[in-house]
Amino acid sequence: PSETVQMDKSRVLAFVTRKGSSNSHTAILARTMNIPALINIEYDDSMDGKMAIVDGKSGSLIVEPDADTLKKYQDQKDEELHQRAMLKELKGKTTETKSGHKIHLYANIGSTGDVASVLANDAEGIGLFRSEFIYLEKENYPTEEEQFEVYKRAAVICKNKVLTIRTLDIGGDKDIPYMGLTKESNPFLGYRAIRFCLGRIDVFTTQLRAILRASAYGNIRIMLPLITGVSEVRSVRTILQNVMRELDSKEIPYDKDILLGVMIETPAACMLADILAKEADFFSIGTNDLTQYTIAVDRGNENVAYLYSAFHPAVLRSVKRIIECAKRENIEVGMCGEAAGNPAMIPLLLAFGLDEFSVTASKVLETRKNIASWTMKEAAAVTDTVMGMSPEKEVSAYLSDYIATKMSNGK
Ligand code: PEP
Ligand code: MG
Repeated sequence: PSETVQMDKSRVLAFVTRKGSSNSHTAILARTMNIPALINIEYDDSMDGKMAIVDGKSGSLIVEPDADTLKKYQDQKDEELHQRAMLKELKGKTTETKSGHKIHLYANIGSTGDVASVLANDAEGIGLFRSEFIYLEKENYPTEEEQFEVYKRAAVICKNKVLTIRTLDIGGDKDIPYMGLTKESNPFLGYRAIRFCLGRIDVFTTQLRAILRASAYGNIRIMLPLITGVSEVRSVRTILQNVMRELDSKEIPYDKDILLGVMIETPAACMLADILAKEADFFSIGTNDLTQYTIAVDRGNENVAYLYSAFHPAVLRSVKRIIECAKRENIEVGMCGEAAGNPAMIPLLLAFGLDEFSVTASKVLETRKNIASWTMKEAAAVTDTVMGMSPEKEVSAYLSDYIATKMSNGK
């Protein structure tokens, strides 16, 4: 991920890696940066310097394509650009279902550089700013001042649109050499995200102070990753209150009503969602991790990637439960995991009652179009059928058939 985030977008058309999975942060970042990428592809040095087609749709790498293949892909690319141009008609429109049910549609970003594309794609705000990429780009911990400038710039560009800053989510597949994290056998189960922050209060406090100061310039919300229990949220609230008191004493302005949200991305948080909903100001469902932890399938391991699916009935039941618990406590609930941008997931999320979808910027308009194609009644009927199914493959097959038919009928 640190190499991806440092890529000069103006010089990279696409990239291919030998290892990894499409749920790794390298792949997610590539999507955020709108760079076509293939992960877990066989290639060798003999391909160096040759022309190649990177087909992100089918997942194939075609080295030295013949004239016919090249023409076929050029036509496909033109068609894709045409489709995108058509989606521009949806700019300025509200996001709502065919039956008029309104939805908040946000985008995910990894740096302030991505904010421009969020606005260009007409997202209502930012549902996830992966703040760790500020740390990944650096040779050492970014100072409070450096972070303040980044968050403030993002807040100012967003004007009064929501800007949800997720606090440092380091560890797992994101290692930062200067942090001196020890090698762990199970990094995704280890010293990661909120665990690191609560272990390094100095680093965490610096970040919170920078975010709070920036909150005077826009509509910022704070979001905590990898929460597994109530104590973690309470500890953060105490730290946050201390930072606020310090800012008060120096008369430094900040948003005193800033919202503190929790990512629900572990089975523990899902089981405790009824209680966490009383502690958090909002929820955001992180399906990338929720899927990995619920099915016990490493999101970065290509050997078990066949098991990884947010359509697994256990994940769907979790998502339903989380949304229900949020509703019961009247807090907003969104989804910022990749599943939010999956057209087949949309009817389920609508029927469960999700308030906010946060997707990659390039998928915002497509998601608006997809949401507009469902009535709540149709979404509920599809969801009833799906929730009655047990094998994961049956769910995926049913949904892709249903959506293909729906699209071919132009509904
Ligand atoms: C998630 O886990 O779904 C998520 C949005 O966070 P990340 O992919 O950065 O772990
Ligand atoms: Mg996560």
